Amino acid sequence: VLPVVAIVGRPNVGKSTLVNRILRRREAVVEDVPGVTRDRVAYEAEWSGRRFTIIDTGGWSIDATGIHLRVAEQAEIAVEMADVVLFVVDAKVGATDDDEAVVRMLRRAGKPVILCANKVDDDRFEADAMALWNLGLGEPFAISALHGRGSGDLLDKILELL
Ligand code: GDP
Ligand code: MG
Repeated sequence: VLPVVAIVGRPNVGKSTLVNRILRRREAVVEDVPGVTRDRVAYEAEWSGRRFTIIDTGGWSIDATGIHLRVAEQAEIAVEMADVVLFVVDAKVGATDDDEAVVRMLRRAGKPVILCANKVDDDRFEADAMALWNLGLGEPFAISALHGRGSGDLLDKILELL
């Protein structure tokens, strides 16, 4: 059985784009429409000769109802299954109430978490990434899932924790 890495965060922060970056192929569905990844979707990934399962999830929000509640529950199940959780935040937007709620959910779960400050497409957004220290999850990893910036360091960190 391969170790499991779960990816959680609000809709539209770039979770599926990050999955594709890690897989180095276009497989996870990326949409401009928030919340398009409805369920848990598992893929097999590999880095530096080590294999692991990566689980993409739909967006998690605190006041979810109906379909969104089901999506949120799927994300919580993914976290329960995970050895390491990648919590993706949109660094350009900054931490929202929903992000804070994800932090509380992750604290309850007690899993190792890597805070991914996404959409840091260039140096200008580094400061936005560093502002996410406020979430209390340790060092934010500034990445651009879209362009690949920082993804090698992130993958090295994942392997450290697996
Ligand atoms: P998800 O809902 O969290 O899975 O988000 P998606 O991966 O579907 O991405 C939502 C939108 O954000 C899409 O338009 C992506 O192209 C865009 N996006 C994702 N990562 C980045 C990034 O690193 N930089 C920028 N500028 N846009 C990104
Ligand atoms: Mg998605």
